[in-house]
Amino acid sequence: MSARLVLLGPPGAGKGTQAVRLAESLGVPAISTGDIFRANIKGGTALGLKVQEYTSAGALVPDELTNAMVRDRLAEPDVEGGFLLDGYPRNVAQVAELDDILTSTGRSLDVAVEITADAAAVVDRLLKRAEIEGRADDTESVVRHRLDVYAEQTAPIAGVYASRDLLVQVDGIGAVDEVTQRLLAAIAPYVG
Ligand code: ADP
Repeated sequence: MSARLVLLGPPGAGKGTQAVRLAESLGVPAISTGDIFRANIKGGTALGLKVQEYTSAGALVPDELTNAMVRDRLAEPDVEGGFLLDGYPRNVAQVAELDDILTSTGRSLDVAVEITADAAAVVDRLLKRAEIEGRADDTESVVRHRLDVYAEQTAPIAGVYASRDLLVQVDGIGAVDEVTQRLLAAIAPYVG
C-alpha cells in the first residue's frame, strides 16, 4: 500500500487545508514547501534568510534551494508509506526533479490532484485570509503576482501529469468537508 500524491491548484484554492485532511485520511505526512519556508523564516535559519526576499515578493524560491530541501525531506523515514506534497512541484523543472528523486529511490507517483478555483474566488479568499492570519504575502499586489506566477509556471504542469494519465481535477468551490469528500472519491482509484 502506498499513497504518493502531489496536490496542485492556485493560491487560495484551499490546498493547505485539504492537504492536511487528505494526508490524515490516507495516513501519510502532508509536506508543504510553503509551510517549511515560513517555519525557517520564523526561526531565522540560514535557509529562512535566503528565501525571505522571494516569498515576501510572491516570487518562486530558486529551484536549487527548493529542490535540495524536498530531496532531504523525501529521504526521511516517515515517508516510507507515502506522502502528500503541497506546493511542490511548482514548475516544469521541479517535475523533473521530483521524478529523479523518486526513481532514484525506486518509487513513483500515484496521482496528481488539481484543486480548481477561478481567479476571482481565490483573490477574495486570500484577501480575507490576510485579515485573519496576517501572512506577509497576502497583500493584494503580492497575491496578484502569485496568481500570475501560478498561471505562467505552475498551471502547465497539470498538462504534464495529464499526459501520464496521473491527473485528476476536483472543483475546489464549496464547503470544506464537501471538497474533502470529492477529493477522496477522486483519488480512491489511484491509491491503496
Ligand atoms: P500559496 O500556494 O498560497 O501561494 P505557499 O504556502 O504554497 O502559498 O507558498 C508560499 C511561497 O513559498 C511561494 O509564493 C514561494 O515564494 C515559496 N514556495 C513554496 N513552494 C515553492 C516551490 N515549490 N518552489 C519555489 N518556491 C516555492
